[in-house]
Amino acid sequence: MTRIAFLGLGAIGAPMARHLAAPPFSLTVWNRTATRARSFAAEAGNETRAADSPAAAAREAAVVITCLPTSAEVESLLDGPQGLLSAMARGSTLVDCTSGDPATSRRIAARLAERGVDFMDAPVSGGTSGAERGTLTVMCGGDRAVFDRIRPVIDTFGEKLILCGPVGAGHALKSVNNALLAIHLWSAGEGLAALAKAGVSPAIALDVINASSGRSNSSENLIPHRVLTRAFPRTFRLALLDKDVGIAAGVAREQRVPAPLLQLTAELMRLAHNELGEEADHAEMIRVIERWANVEIR
Ligand code: NDP
Repeated sequence: MTRIAFLGLGAIGAPMARHLAAPPFSLTVWNRTATRARSFAAEAGNETRAADSPAAAAREAAVVITCLPTSAEVESLLDGPQGLLSAMARGSTLVDCTSGDPATSRRIAARLAERGVDFMDAPVSGGTSGAERGTLTVMCGGDRAVFDRIRPVIDTFGEKLILCGPVGAGHALKSVNNALLAIHLWSAGEGLAALAKAGVSPAIALDVINASSGRSNSSENLIPHRVLTRAFPRTFRLALLDKDVGIAAGVAREQRVPAPLLQLTAELMRLAHNELGEEADHAEMIRVIERWANVEIR
């Protein structure tokens, strides 16, 4: 059996980890709030263990997977007596499924390499429902040999597994994807608010847009299912999308690519995040547009 450690059982981490609680893998989980790890292990069965520290989870693992809010939290797990640097075995691999930032990942990879531990960034797309179904897209950054070695592990929760480039490439690509999500959602919201005020029902507007060239995942799925219904389910926090768009804007700056729309979208996400708080779902950014326009998109 290949021992896997999974660190971070949040909205997407928990359904991803569930796929690893079965042969040929034996799973140990760790979560900052320990009760979550204990109840996960009890529900998952198959001798899944809950560890008291990242080090205890990682000690015998061939592959350690992290899925935390940002790269800063991943980096904070490296040091100290309960840290990953002292616990991970030579020849093992840290696979970071956080939507993180490329520069921190390159730093983490370099520190692990000094200990003979490999690193791969492997952020995911497909949402919590994709995680439950095991159909995520996993975008990887690192060496081909490492990618080939970890493929059976990420294949349990992923359907499309892509090696995108060197360490950091997965994180860069994920941030740009999510910046596009933010742009599509925000711009569709502005357009629908204007149309609603002009007397066009949002449902009719979406019917036309979704048969035309302005359609996107936001117009086809997010707005009909989350906004028009007023359900606004909480699956992916706006705070995390704010972080992602900030990373994308940073990648553009670092590469000296003029990207005024990315920078503006980063500002808008920060503003919406500040206004709606830490727990709001990303689709709730539409509420800010509604407040500004004094109209509801329903
Ligand atoms: P959540 O906010 O639901 O969960 C965050 C997890 O990180 C929890 O397990 C939390 O532990 C843990 N955590 C938070 N702070 C710390 C810390 N300082 N030290 C250790 N652990 C910490 O986030 P998600 O699961 O939604 O997201 C995780 C990552 O996946 C993010 O990078 C996100 O952008 C990305 N992602 C999320 C998607 C989604 O649909 N939700 C889709 C694609 C990517 P605790 O239980 O103690 O709070």
